[in-house]
Amino acid sequence: MKQALIALALCALLAWAVWREPVPLVQHREVFALGTLLQLSVADPLPPPLLSKVQAELRAFEKRWSPQGDGELARLNALLASQPGAPLPEALRAGISAARDACLSSDGLFDPAMGALVQIWGFDDERNFRSEPPPASAIEQALSASPSLCAAELGDSIKLTGIGARLDFGASAKGRAVDEIIALLHRHGIRNAIVNAGGDLRAIGRRPDRAWRIGIRHPRGDGPRAVLASLDIADGEAVFSSGDYERYFLHEGRRYHHIIDPRDGYPATGSQSATVLHHSAELADAAATALFVAGPDRAADIMQRMGVGLWLLVDAEGGIHASAAMRERLEGLP
Ligand code: AMP
Ligand code: MG
Repeated sequence: MKQALIALALCALLAWAVWREPVPLVQHREVFALGTLLQLSVADPLPPPLLSKVQAELRAFEKRWSPQGDGELARLNALLASQPGAPLPEALRAGISAARDACLSSDGLFDPAMGALVQIWGFDDERNFRSEPPPASAIEQALSASPSLCAAELGDSIKLTGIGARLDFGASAKGRAVDEIIALLHRHGIRNAIVNAGGDLRAIGRRPDRAWRIGIRHPRGDGPRAVLASLDIADGEAVFSSGDYERYFLHEGRRYHHIIDPRDGYPATGSQSATVLHHSAELADAAATALFVAGPDRAADIMQRMGVGLWLLVDAEGGIHASAAMRERLEGLP
């Protein structure tokens, strides 16, 4: 009898302990990819092999879209260095076509054919980092030699208006990768998740307890001022930012950063940060870069041309500009 009572008490204790064990609402996993720590937050059961699939897809993506190495884009660039046209690998077609469309709709402010300029500025690779601007003559030469992706003819092959283009999708590939990973998770039955690539992200579904909620980084903030504003994101929405704080050097009191204005070949001067919310992460990424280059004067016009209704821009003086629809979504905006 005594033993039965002890067993019963132990069972009750165990049941209580199991009941008390907090079941995580959201699981977090991290993968190093796309030059950043990519975080998956999943509010559904996550089968362990899925994480390896995500990793494998990201590795393949990086190889395919890197301007360096021996993937499809690097090989295409090697051909375009000395000839205006080349066969277009199947795996690159949809991404290059989306980028050409974004180039046109941004009035050429987003132009991934400027890789040679990005290289001259040393922002293509950490090993090439500079501490002072390149000579003006080198910038001018690269600018006049670079054909624009806006004018590309695309099909089974790509035809540009000149030789020497270096395609660099640093401004839109992260968005395309995030879209691909979201699609992969969806194919495996995940309906509630965030794919966050260093602050640029896309969500599906919601957390069990509430909507996904994210903060937008303050371009000059740290500590308690690190977040400029926050917002709830709905199923399928992506939020991407471009900023002059990501890659830059200071020279004689001026900040030289990695977002280049295709009109003059120098880092764009009108903005500190630009944020776009859209259902396509690929478009959000390209549009955030275009918005940064557009600056406050052309922001509304360029966003309308690109089909973006939700955007936020911090100008070079720290002034805030946002579409009315975006203001309604943001909380805590100064
Ligand atoms: P993001 O952080 O998305 O704005 O992308 C910036 C990266 O895109 C740079 O590091 C360059 O590789 C490339 N880039 C810079 N300026 C432009 C531009 N105006 N259009 C397209 N790509 C650019
Ligand atoms: Mg971008």
